[in-house]
Amino acid sequence: MEWIREADVIVVGAGFFGLTVAERLASESQKRVAIVDSRDHIGGNAHSYIEASSQVEVHTYGSHLFHTNNEKVWKYVSKFTEFNNYQHRVFAISRGEVFSLPVNLQTLSQLYPGITTVEQAAQLLASFPKDELNNFESKAISLVGEIAYNRFIKNYTEKQWQTNPRDLPAEIISRLPIRTNLDGRYFSDKYQGLPMDGYQKWQEKMVTDEKISIQLNTDFFDIQSQIGKNQLVIYTGPIDRYFGYKYGVLGWRTLDFETEVVEVDDYQGNSVVNYCDEIPEYTRIHEFKHLHPERSYTAGKTVIMKEFSRFAGKTDDPYYPINTSEDRAKLNKYREEAAQLKNVYFGGRLGTYQYLDMHMAIASALSLYENELRLATTGQ
Ligand code: FAD
Ligand code: UDP
Repeated sequence: MEWIREADVIVVGAGFFGLTVAERLASESQKRVAIVDSRDHIGGNAHSYIEASSQVEVHTYGSHLFHTNNEKVWKYVSKFTEFNNYQHRVFAISRGEVFSLPVNLQTLSQLYPGITTVEQAAQLLASFPKDELNNFESKAISLVGEIAYNRFIKNYTEKQWQTNPRDLPAEIISRLPIRTNLDGRYFSDKYQGLPMDGYQKWQEKMVTDEKISIQLNTDFFDIQSQIGKNQLVIYTGPIDRYFGYKYGVLGWRTLDFETEVVEVDDYQGNSVVNYCDEIPEYTRIHEFKHLHPERSYTAGKTVIMKEFSRFAGKTDDPYYPINTSEDRAKLNKYREEAAQLKNVYFGGRLGTYQYLDMHMAIASALSLYENELRLATTGQ
């Protein structure tokens, strides 16, 4: 195929990692880059589209909130898009009551009447048992106490991970900030917002260079045999699949999404609401129009998306690495083998088997380009 022969570099995956590497190689190193993706769109999991009847931008794979403290990443992404000033807030429904999440002074005062100041909240948090912190459950109780754990964490985590929280690693709960003040924002990063003209426009702008070609609906393993020895491959697909699963399949969680247009202006009053009881079975509902309050929408319509979580089978989209000790042992074997390969670089969420936010995927792609690819492609 001509597009393969013409390329200096083949980038597998058009997610933010692949797009960043391709953009840098083409615009700075003057390389010809072919991006292949098995899906019918670029953007990876950060893809979005406009639902025609409501004019709402739907994030195909669940709400994607951009946030970073990394100046370099912020400067880089700002070349392709402007951001609105949306700051993410999440609410949790538990036994018919609405709470602010992450746990903050407001949440604590609802659960522990009488707690009304930052100091009282800090004293309360300090009073929770801190002895055995080696699993998710004990760590979570040490952070928020048993009452909050039973209201917001236990059932939600069981629905999300289908695993007893005592068998999950403690690190998972550390992703959730816990505050003693009334700050209800989900993230405290310096830079936060959503792309003004949507994710798709941003992603398209990253690959306008004519040295970049994009092949959608194309699986890398169908064209791999045609790649020449001197061509570089940047692979952002699942690392275990690259090696034919020879050391076993790495565990992932996947999500199922149910999207519907509802005939009301506002369904739940916020972009994301978590459902923290055993029933309903979904973990959260996204209502995307709240992410862009600056836009106009069709009156009397909104789009909601229910999110269900389960273990991923081989044919499901892998979303969150489960990362058991068995997974880590397999991963080390794959990594050792990957390190032996000369012209293939592994990156991104799937290629490294790591949960990466968008800013992390972009930062890691910029580092790969600066530390390895710029040199590897010099003089080719
Ligand atoms: P991906 O976006 O997964 O892209 C990889 C691409 O490779 C895919 O398009 C896939 O089709 C393609 N591919 C794989 N194998 C092959 C193959 N064999 N041949 C061809 N193509 C292949 N980040 C945030 O910053 N904020 C958020 O709010 C946020 N929410 C998220 C919610 C969910 C449900 C998920 C799953 C992720 C979320 N993220 C969020 C993370 C964000 O999606 C990732 O950081 C980003 O997608 C990483 O980009 P990537 O390029 O590594 O991978
Ligand atoms: N979590 C919870 N209840 C909530 C929100 C989060 O128990 O309402 C737990 C859950 O175990 C989750 C973890 O906190 O996996 C980290 O939260 P985050 O929002 O980062 O979850 P994600 O959806 O990204 O896994």
